[in-house]
Amino acid sequence: MKETGSFKILYMEDDPGLGRLFQKRLSRLGHRVTLAADGGEGLARYHEYSFDVLVIDYQMPVLDGLQVLRKLGENGSLPPVIMLTGAGTEEIAVEAMKIGATDYIVKDVDNKYFEVLPLVIKDAVQRYRFEEEKRRMQKELERSNKELQQFAYVVSHDLKEPLQTIRGFAKFLEENYHQQLDDQANEFIGYIIDGTKRMERLVNGLLDYSRVRFKKTEPEPVDCNVLVEQVKQDLKGIIDSRKARVTHDPLPTVLGDERLLLRLFLNLIDNALKYCKDRPPEVHVRAEAKKDFWQFSIKDNGIGIDPRHVERIFVIFQRLHPRKEFNGDGLGLAICKKIVEIHKGDIWVESEPGQGSTFYFTIPGGE
Ligand code: ADP
Repeated sequence: MKETGSFKILYMEDDPGLGRLFQKRLSRLGHRVTLAADGGEGLARYHEYSFDVLVIDYQMPVLDGLQVLRKLGENGSLPPVIMLTGAGTEEIAVEAMKIGATDYIVKDVDNKYFEVLPLVIKDAVQRYRFEEEKRRMQKELERSNKELQQFAYVVSHDLKEPLQTIRGFAKFLEENYHQQLDDQANEFIGYIIDGTKRMERLVNGLLDYSRVRFKKTEPEPVDCNVLVEQVKQDLKGIIDSRKARVTHDPLPTVLGDERLLLRLFLNLIDNALKYCKDRPPEVHVRAEAKKDFWQFSIKDNGIGIDPRHVERIFVIFQRLHPRKEFNGDGLGLAICKKIVEIHKGDIWVESEPGQGSTFYFTIPGGE
């Protein structure tokens, strides 16, 4: 963002006296003012040079301020525009704002508006630059997200082939040269095969992660009671074997992608069951209506999480436990985060070691 207090101003004013006065005052404040004696000259100047702000008098001969503004707007986006109108012409000001003016000032006979004009100009330029910067950052974020998505897809896709070659030849050695090689060589081949299996899982995970996206063109109503019941059905084997209880309050219907939301509940409930030791797991799902979103919570009675790690666990491949203790690849919560963000919500966890965890996520809607 340009952080300068000195602006290039185009002032369209048919009264030469007022024009000069304006130019003098604003130049004293460090601004560069170009004067145009009517709308036609103003349009010509605008196309010759670039300006930080345009100040247009409404009452000009041939083309009035609104006509000039309309013509300027035909060429795409405009710098900030301040319209000067006469007293009692509020509807003109309203019209000017509708067609692209940033602000307006009502001229008074004593020219007192000259006092506020520099402030209004400064405010309009700063607001405009702030909005521009916000738009630029938003675009940049979208671009880099897309790039990351493509990168993850290409890398994971292209890595699979050489990986399969390594694994294939290592297996060939294991099966056909076992007798000819000594114990240590056979042990090392075993490590290569284990490593490739693990890497294959990670590559598949990355591919899976890069494919998480909204498939539907329009969000659809999704009944979360049905989703949780479906998850209970899918996890019936673990629930029964661990003597777990998975319960839920009445849940809302939200707008979203059913397939993704099912996966979100599945990952969170699956983790709640998995990260629970020495007692039957108890998992409870709730939803609370906030001002303009639903806040869901999945509470468990598991091992809990050290508060120092509550951010890290949502990063892809980040785990807090060795795989011997709890199996997994550190992908589940990263996928949950992506799903929630696709639905324009947030996800976080509150927990203490040994005290269970509550995962929260929000989805726009609510009462
Ligand atoms: P994975 O379960 O495959 O390791 P996740 O991304 O689902 O991957 O979880 C990341 C880490 O967060 C886990 O390794 C675990 O340490 C921690 N975690 C996730 N859910 C819970 C939970 N309900 N209770 C305690 N720890 C959890």
